[in-house]
Amino acid sequence: MNMKYKVTKVKPQGYCGGVLKAIQMAKECRKLHPNESITILGNLVHNNYVKEALTLYDLKTVEDPSKTRWELLDLVESGIVIFTAHGVNQSVKEKAIKKGLTIVDASCPFVLQTQKFVEQKLNAGYYVFYIGKKGHPEAEAIYSENDRVFLIEKIEDIPKNLKGNIFVTNQTTMSVIEIKDLFAKIKEIYPDASIYDEICNATRVRQEAILALKDQNVDTLIVVGDPSSNNTKKLCAMGVSAAIKNVYRIEDLQQLKPEMFQNARHIAITSGASTPTYLMEQVYEYLIHYPCPKEKIDLHKILDEKRQA
Ligand code: SF4
Repeated sequence: MNMKYKVTKVKPQGYCGGVLKAIQMAKECRKLHPNESITILGNLVHNNYVKEALTLYDLKTVEDPSKTRWELLDLVESGIVIFTAHGVNQSVKEKAIKKGLTIVDASCPFVLQTQKFVEQKLNAGYYVFYIGKKGHPEAEAIYSENDRVFLIEKIEDIPKNLKGNIFVTNQTTMSVIEIKDLFAKIKEIYPDASIYDEICNATRVRQEAILALKDQNVDTLIVVGDPSSNNTKKLCAMGVSAAIKNVYRIEDLQQLKPEMFQNARHIAITSGASTPTYLMEQVYEYLIHYPCPKEKIDLHKILDEKRQA
């Protein structure tokens, strides 16, 4: 065992409640409808391993990053359609019903809550400033619906000289740091704007746990997560904000290279809210047993040993 460096697992990390619920709903749907065609509209959660695991349940995913959910729906002919944890807008639901599809909605309750606030404010005549990421399905469900909604990715996107009430909210997986700056800038331009910070608790506590590493002499942070996962990207950004010298995002153990950690003194490891725990555990076990060959990391054995301990 190599004891040159210390390895700390950051807590909390891994699946959030919304991701767990979506995966359980999809599996349950197959159990209840063993012979139906079931299609997931976009990636159920942002992780390729999860997507592949779902094919074992004969759950098909239609995904094309250049297409909106509304456009993707053209690829679903019949049967059951599952809406992902990121939510969809009303026009997608209506289109699915018109096509005669049965809907299973796995949207996270926190995403639905933000959608509800936006709808209430639009009905009350407000303009909505939505801080989010263009093309992300959660943001798309809100900004593509109404021309009184403005997507804000950076300060330059804040509209000037609007007259009327303004409601400001955000995608649930944004950075707790970036959003403060954007809220402050909006308040400077529109002092009467109502602000609802909708970063979900799972995102917030995972990001704060990384920021707290600042005082723990961590020199290397490894974030296990999918390149398409916004919350994973933001965990990396928190590592940079916590002044950690080396920050790496890897999808799995295969992407971990010795040059990333060989000279480290203190490594922290975490994973995105849609990353299966076993992917993070494999990386952790490899780090503490390095330089054993990667093939020796037998996850099932590791988990069995832990259960018996
Ligand atoms: S990150 Fe937050 S909003 Fe997204 S699925 Fe998880 S709990 Fe829900």
